Formats: sequence, C-alpha cells, structure tokens
Amino acid sequence: MGRNTAADAASALRLLNSPDMRQNPEHGPRERRAPSSTPGAPLNISVVDYVTRQVGQIVDYTVSVTPQPKPLPERLEDVYDWCIEQTGEADDTERRRRDTLIETHALEHAIRLGETDEVCKHPCPRCGCWGLEWDHGGNRALCLNRRCRTPDGSASTWTPARLAGQKVRRTEIWRRNAT
Ligand SMILES: [Zn+2]
Repeated sequence: MGRNTAADAASALRLLNSPDMRQNPEHGPRERRAPSSTPGAPLNISVVDYVTRQVGQIVDYTVSVTPQPKPLPERLEDVYDWCIEQTGEADDTERRRRDTLIETHALEHAIRLGETDEVCKHPCPRCGCWGLEWDHGGNRALCLNRRCRTPDGSASTWTPARLAGQKVRRTEIWRRNAT
C-alpha cells in the first residue's frame, strides 16, 4: 500500500477532526440517511466518537506489533504515518492487517464525509461487477446486479472493511504477477 492511501486517510481525518465537524456532529452522511433507516447503525455516533474510535484502532494495532512505540504525533492526522513508521518490522501478515486497516479507514472517512461514490471504485466481491452503491439505511455497500444474490436470496451487501480487504488482496496478487 501505500503512503497514498495513508495520505488520503490522513487528510480525511484532518477534515473530520476540524472544529466545524466536531461542533456539528450531525454533519456528513447522517443528514442524507433515508428516513426509513434504523437508528443504532454505526454512523449514528458523533464525529468526535468516530474519530476517537478510529484513532484508537490505529494505536491498538501499532502497539500489538510494536509494544513500545514512540509517542503519538502532535497532529492527529499524522497517526497513519506514525503507525507505518512504528511498524516497519511487521511481518507479511501484520503488514496486510495494517494495509487493510488503513484502507478501511480511508473508505470509512470518505463515506463519513459524504463521498459515498468511493464504494464505486470497488468491484463486488461476489459477482465482480463494478456496480456497488452506498446504502445509507443499511450502512453497507449494495450490489445493484439483480442476479447477484446471497445463498438465501438476499441482495449482496458489503462493509467497507470487506471491500478494503479485497483491494489489499487484489493489489498483492497484481504485484506478485507483475514481478
Ligand atoms: Zn454483486
């Protein structure tokens, strides 16, 4: 992965952590949720809680690889670069976990900021179609291919983490084949 993904995640985190967003926790996709959507979905928590939780995930991961990392950076958004630097010795499995985590954050931040079209950049993990759409009510990416169904006949839906994991695996395969 990329520092590019980490940079995307960082700039989105900076926006999410801006005073404007922090003081208006109703910002973002929540305003556009369908009226029928069920309360209690992860997007219902405030922006501040969201940012704290996401940063906590990065810190937890970093400490699991490097028990005594350097102190956290001053600027919150530098946490991704900090994580990559502090886990330079990570093995392949740990690195994949890190790449997937940062890739997931980049996608989750974008969705949180209302850039739900980001899910269109991922093919459906089941049918391979490039026809995913963000379902605000379901809080998941929905495949619009009518023939793409789960074994019990429901439409295929995916979490950002699932799409991010797929992207990391595809990039790895592509890289392996390219060398
Ligand atoms: Zn599909």
